[in-house]
Amino acid sequence: MPVVPMREILDPAFADRYGVAAINIVDDLSLDAVLAAAVELESPLIVQTSLKTVKSIGPKPLYAMWRARADEVPVPVTLHLDHCPDREWISICLRTGWNSVLFDGSELDVAENTRQTIEVVAEADGHGAQVEGEIESVLGVEDGVGSDEAGEVHPVEVSAKFIEETGIYSFAPAIGTAHGLYKAEPKLTPERVTEIVELHPIPQVLHGGTGLTEAQFTDLIARGCAKVNISTALKIAFVDAHREYLDAHPAKHDPPALLKHVRSAVKEMAEQHIRMFGSAGKATATTPAAG
Ligand SMILES: [Zn+2]
Repeated sequence: MPVVPMREILDPAFADRYGVAAINIVDDLSLDAVLAAAVELESPLIVQTSLKTVKSIGPKPLYAMWRARADEVPVPVTLHLDHCPDREWISICLRTGWNSVLFDGSELDVAENTRQTIEVVAEADGHGAQVEGEIESVLGVEDGVGSDEAGEVHPVEVSAKFIEETGIYSFAPAIGTAHGLYKAEPKLTPERVTEIVELHPIPQVLHGGTGLTEAQFTDLIARGCAKVNISTALKIAFVDAHREYLDAHPAKHDPPALLKHVRSAVKEMAEQHIRMFGSAGKATATTPAAG
């Protein structure tokens, strides 16, 4: 199956209220592991990259690596650029072939964010790509983007107006989640998802999901969070698997065995999330032929 536009994956997920995991990969091994999990469970999958990863690997080598792997999998997959406040890098990724971008204008005031997001949507349209928007910053720094200060949360009417005026495809609402690990139980405001969807029904995006319970995920997905971002959980699986292997085999110098262990841990993490979000077996729901 070819790489598909973001809307072919999220339209059916939003309509049928299941979630699709959007996993932040960090290299070829983590990319390979999450794609293998989607194939195993016959699930659609969103692969996403932080701006930091794009800069460290380079957009062209990263995209070439993605296409080489993604073109071979029999399930629908799409490539998304996570939080990017930098317009130049949005343009670079769109030109290179990313299917979707999150223009993170949450540091701007809403009027300026709206103005710039309209431009990004027009630019993405020219590439057949979709845009995720946000007006409130998600608490916590992720790969160098964001803030540890809680930002202002606007009334849901402001979100609905932003969605209408910009024509964004998906929206990341502030619902009390945070990037990274929770130091205390998060105080979620899931009703905001329902209210925004009622005012303007487009797929909502759940950021800061690591540490939520299965019941919290299920509830938010049922309310319209069709895209569920997974970043911290991948970092934990990836790093802990290295540590486990090295602690268990302090005298071994066997890279293939180490990498096999890490790949297996990352694949298992991805499978757990895909099952929990309800997208297992939904690969065929995404094909244009299925309508
Ligand atoms: Zn995020």
